[in-house]
Amino acid sequence: MSTATTTDGRLFALSDAAALLAADSVDTPCFAYRIDLARERFLDLRAALPRRVNLAYAVKSNPGPPLLAELARWGAWFDCASAGEVAAVGTARHAVGAHPAGPSAVPGRMVFAGPAKSEADLRAALAAGARIQVDGIEDVQRLAAWHHGPEPLAINVRVHPLEGVSETASIIGGSGPSAFGVDEEELPQFVGACAEYPTVRLSGLQVFSASNELDAAALLANHRTALGIGERLQSLLGHDLDLIDLGGGLGIPYADDSPELDIRALGAGLAELLAANAWFTGEVVLEPGRWLSGPTGVYLTRVVRVKRSRGTTFAILQGGINHLLRPLMTGQSFPVRSVPDRRGLTVTDSGSEDGAAGELTAYTLAGPLCTSLDRIGTAELGPLEPGDLLMFGQAGAYGFTQAMTNFLSHPVPEQLWLDGSSA
Ligand SMILES: *Cc1c(COP(=O)(O)O)cnc(C)c1O
Repeated sequence: MSTATTTDGRLFALSDAAALLAADSVDTPCFAYRIDLARERFLDLRAALPRRVNLAYAVKSNPGPPLLAELARWGAWFDCASAGEVAAVGTARHAVGAHPAGPSAVPGRMVFAGPAKSEADLRAALAAGARIQVDGIEDVQRLAAWHHGPEPLAINVRVHPLEGVSETASIIGGSGPSAFGVDEEELPQFVGACAEYPTVRLSGLQVFSASNELDAAALLANHRTALGIGERLQSLLGHDLDLIDLGGGLGIPYADDSPELDIRALGAGLAELLAANAWFTGEVVLEPGRWLSGPTGVYLTRVVRVKRSRGTTFAILQGGINHLLRPLMTGQSFPVRSVPDRRGLTVTDSGSEDGAAGELTAYTLAGPLCTSLDRIGTAELGPLEPGDLLMFGQAGAYGFTQAMTNFLSHPVPEQLWLDGSSA
């Protein structure tokens, strides 16, 4: 269990002053997000990548309607994995309607993945015109039975690589056994089985096996593996692939000593890789989730009690794993800092104006749930008192919707959507 205490501004979307304003404007606990940061990150990433590379935002990382609408406005593609996500994207696109932004904002396309697609999922994805990433022959059989267009339905196969996958901590799963996709070594049989269904045409590939990767070279190595699989798939099929989806996995730092992913190196490396794979002339897709949404959000919660028990000092918070589950699930560090209240209503006795100096205590951050599982982590913080505000950074991805909100029936946290430099 670890939570990194940090005052490193780059890990927090909001300044202390903005965090106090946000926490005062609604009941805490709450999430606060900055739409302007999401826009900036999307445009920066798109500018860093070769033109052939389309950005499909992974909706699961944060399906917040204002965020989806902003990305839709700029022509983002979307990566969906349920009928609910397809509907959310449909609503966002409808909201944007005739008001796209930027000269190149043609509506993006949709890709659809998932290891256990229901009939409702597949039908929603088809109706939305999504490119479906089939996970096995069952998906192919259903699509073949439903599709009655004049042209065969173009589909992608998700392939689980045999080797050559780098993943620092298991989130998607590296190259071990996997619930996702067709194992690479079974590809020849799969291609043979697909040929039995002439109303679908296998003409693309998705490979995604590693998440939260901070090293551009490691991402590029996975992409090289994917292109190698693509080349074999194309020769097995005997016709050209028109789309290769390299998945998500672009990492963000969760601690002071973590670097930022070098997106320019990633872009340059992708350009080189595509140039070296002249056999492939189709479109490329990347599906970043965390990289786009994570740094846009913070989670704000107040200290309810401070308690010492047998040598451990607990800060017991308004919200715990019912709102922020990722630190417990991954065992990885998570940035947190205490936000000094400059009006002196909840003065800490750290003796310093910014509250960062003074004696540090190792607090075990516990939530309100009646289970000892409810621990966000431990953090070295200045003296805490009831009412003090804590801010968790990088909480825009895998935060609100990844938590176990309904457990113990506490109120659902508010989500604030800020736009502009108020932060
Ligand atoms: C979760 C997921 C993503 C996004 O992953 P990040 O690590 O957040 O970039 C992209 N594609 C698929 C298929 C996913 O399941």
